[in-house]
Amino acid sequence: MAVPPVPPLSYSSYRTYLECPLRWKFLYVDRLPEEPRGYFTFGRVIHSVLEELVRPLVVPSARRINEAESQRTLDEWQGAERPVHAGWMARDELLDFYDRSWSSDGYVSKEEEARYRAIGKDLLLRYYDLLVQEHPQPVAVEEHLEARWDGIPIHGYIDRIDRTPTGGLEIVDYKTSRELSHDDARDSDQLTIYQVLVQQNYTEPVEGLTLYHLRTLKPLRSPPRQATALSDLHNRLGMVSDGIRSEGFDPTPGRYCARCDFRSRCPEFRTVPPSDEVRLRALVDRFESLRLEEGRLSAELKSTAEELHRAAEELGVHRVPGTRSVAVRRKEEAWQYSLDTIRPLLEKSGLPRALGTGTPEEIRQLLRDPRLDPETRRRLAEAGARRVKWYWQLDESNGKS
Ligand code: SF4
Repeated sequence: MAVPPVPPLSYSSYRTYLECPLRWKFLYVDRLPEEPRGYFTFGRVIHSVLEELVRPLVVPSARRINEAESQRTLDEWQGAERPVHAGWMARDELLDFYDRSWSSDGYVSKEEEARYRAIGKDLLLRYYDLLVQEHPQPVAVEEHLEARWDGIPIHGYIDRIDRTPTGGLEIVDYKTSRELSHDDARDSDQLTIYQVLVQQNYTEPVEGLTLYHLRTLKPLRSPPRQATALSDLHNRLGMVSDGIRSEGFDPTPGRYCARCDFRSRCPEFRTVPPSDEVRLRALVDRFESLRLEEGRLSAELKSTAEELHRAAEELGVHRVPGTRSVAVRRKEEAWQYSLDTIRPLLEKSGLPRALGTGTPEEIRQLLRDPRLDPETRRRLAEAGARRVKWYWQLDESNGKS
């Protein structure tokens, strides 16, 4: 199947490619479905209930770039007739909506489903009370934003964008996972991508990034990312984008394989069909014994050459006849210079010549330069180390012409 052009990268697509490019291909090129999982279903249901709950609070005060229709200022909105809280759910309406939104997909047992359902109910009621107390001013919920970040198309669905008391924006991403720490918020590439999306779609400055841990109702806040973090992530996104463009879809087995639904299609896990087992087993066994033989032969070759070399040195000969051919001893010389030693010597000599990469050939040429004073030439020559390597060649003509 032909690979389409690189699609806009979402955080989850980017993370999937980093975890395993082949899994990315299965999901985003072949579009293979994944098995439902209870914790994902739970997260989706909670997100959709929160969207419905928070939407009536939205004040369309942030000024959207390139959207004339949304260019209303906060003052205009406050002067509008529609009350901000129209459509706000009562607690029992919230629970009713939760019940209607519930899905049983992916839970491994009735017990697990009931446990998640109870956690969700408790979490929503506590969050409801908190919303009433805190009275946030969201300017968007579940908003899909797109942008081109220096040539890389990105997109994402942002759970909530709040207006801050100073007139800026705070990005909020809900998390239903069990554990979350401040480090997660500080290091989250997801929040960084959202920051870029909001910066490119809104005129108000992004003042904060928050992972909202729903189970404990704890907002884990971090300041907006600065230039270095933004550039690091842009580089990583560029690598992913280049990998997709060049169809780099090799499997990278690791801890993610345990929850990968595509193991039966993955060459790392697919098994040899029974009809080919015998033939391939014989090939593997042969390969293994050749590898062992190769190692043994290469060690023996080295020790024989060394013994021959010692004998030739003692006798002062370079040619040693065998039964079928003559072994001929050859020498290879190489000079190595330390640039740290060479550069100061040259600078002192005042020789108007720039030193390139300092290859041995370049230094040898310098040594032949007639403008070099004898003392510098001597010291330069001494700064070099000569490496000599002897090796043997076989002359199979054995002296016959
Ligand atoms: S099983 Fe592992 S290596 Fe294979 S596609 Fe899935 S994640 Fe990648």
